[in-house]
Amino acid sequence: DQARVARALLSVSDKTGLVDFARALSERGVALVSTGGTHRALSEAGLPVTEVAEITGFPEMMDGRVKTLHPAVHGGLLAVRDDPEHQAALAAHGIGAIDLLVVNLYPFEATIAKPCAYDDAVENIDVGGPAMIRAAAKNHADVAVVVDVADYGAILSELEAGNGTLGAATRRRLAQKAFARTASYDSAIASWLADHVEMEAAPAFRAFGGTLAQSLRYGENPHQSAAFYRTPGLVRPGVASARQLQGKELSFNNLNDTDAAYECVAEFDPARAAAVAIIKHANPCGVAEGDTLAEAYERALACDPTSAFGGIVALNRTLDAESAARIVEIFTEVIIAPDATEEAIALVATKKNLRLLLTGGLPDPRAKGFSMRNLAGGILVQGRDAAVVDDMTLKVVTKREPTAQEYADLRFAYRVAKHVKSNAIVYARNGATVGIGAGQMSRVDSSRIAAWKAAEGAKRIGAAESLAKGSVVASDAFFPFADGLIAAAEAGATAVIQPGGSMRDADVIKAADEAGLAMVFTGHRHFRH
Ligand code: 5GP
Repeated sequence: DQARVARALLSVSDKTGLVDFARALSERGVALVSTGGTHRALSEAGLPVTEVAEITGFPEMMDGRVKTLHPAVHGGLLAVRDDPEHQAALAAHGIGAIDLLVVNLYPFEATIAKPCAYDDAVENIDVGGPAMIRAAAKNHADVAVVVDVADYGAILSELEAGNGTLGAATRRRLAQKAFARTASYDSAIASWLADHVEMEAAPAFRAFGGTLAQSLRYGENPHQSAAFYRTPGLVRPGVASARQLQGKELSFNNLNDTDAAYECVAEFDPARAAAVAIIKHANPCGVAEGDTLAEAYERALACDPTSAFGGIVALNRTLDAESAARIVEIFTEVIIAPDATEEAIALVATKKNLRLLLTGGLPDPRAKGFSMRNLAGGILVQGRDAAVVDDMTLKVVTKREPTAQEYADLRFAYRVAKHVKSNAIVYARNGATVGIGAGQMSRVDSSRIAAWKAAEGAKRIGAAESLAKGSVVASDAFFPFADGLIAAAEAGATAVIQPGGSMRDADVIKAADEAGLAMVFTGHRHFRH
């Protein structure tokens, strides 16, 4: 399994250790071939070395873009030594085999690490180097490839020990390292270029003065390009202003979901209670208040632990050790909070992919602002939904008035419903959601889903009755018919909050009275499509 090293091709940008290495090879009787700059360095050191141009019969041309891209080089690297046809081809074309390739690439990463002209970066994209590295690495059955200056010493020792040969295991290890190098090199180029790719949406964002915050690997799906633009004059604490302490780079969906999570949890005044929102696909799958964040998290999680898997967790207070310890037990994509204690940060650090974002504060749910969405040939702009249930006059429309506890839960549920995609139905009890129905085309379907979730929750904890029993229900828009309301009453809700304003309000109120429900109208709809 030993392969003799008779001829080496050296082509390096970083010439550290080059001369000593090449001299040792030469002293072992290895014939040296090299490209322009490398050749110069070696011949100045008095070493016998052949220039690649002499082998290819072509001068290096086009500013060095084309030096080694030639069959005389690639045939020598790729020929299988014990294949008679390959050997015949070498002989027929007068190509000499290359047993050892020593290449380090144009310094692309170092070039773009400093401010540089676009064209300089492009000129530092090595083409022939990776081509040779890949050829030699592919043919590691016969060829050794060295891409790291740090490996020169070990190669010489092994040549010494092996009497001028290198072992198969070494060649395979070197090939693995070589492919890892070309892969990271290409990914550096790709991500640099991504910053310069003109997004389809870019002109629109530039028009309102937005700045590119992050080029994203892809959009909602891998075949969509994407970028994250920051709104000019940003003052709102949130994803765009957050400091990421750890974890993988945020994806398009992460950013979108994290924003939804933080905007939702920001509805809950941290001075009143700790609150936690767990979000999946931009919809809450559990929101709860508690005396502590750990308690709030536990209660939010209990609403729908299945959906919470791989979710985003948003907190309205400083992340503490107790809550962090609990959150890291479950696969979570992102944690976002105003701040975190040192102990909590250390606990999150045990999950290296988990992203931890700290924003320094909560966004004001009442703040003005705008939201945008594009449609074919245009952009829709609207003011953000800054309506907060605490500012609304709740009009009791039923014979029965809500109890104090029901009032508190109605407000809680309406806060959450604002952040659930329409049609939104939210069951809540004692400051925690127990069933959420989101995004259905029919309100009655959302009611059914929310009630079903509450029933599932009861099964999970072995409770005899649905968790919706004794809960309140919020609807983001009016019930067009009494059926949705009747479904809620059947599920066990005792009080209802909804905007009101349907042509059939009278029917709905009558049904509520018949079921003994208390119902309030807010006069404000919270559609979220
Ligand atoms: P030298 O300093 O010897 O002139 O050039 C060495 C550098 O050229 C190495 O980084 C090597 O990867 C790169 N290189 C070798 N062959 C080619 C080629 O055909 N095209 C390009 N663009 N770079 C090459």
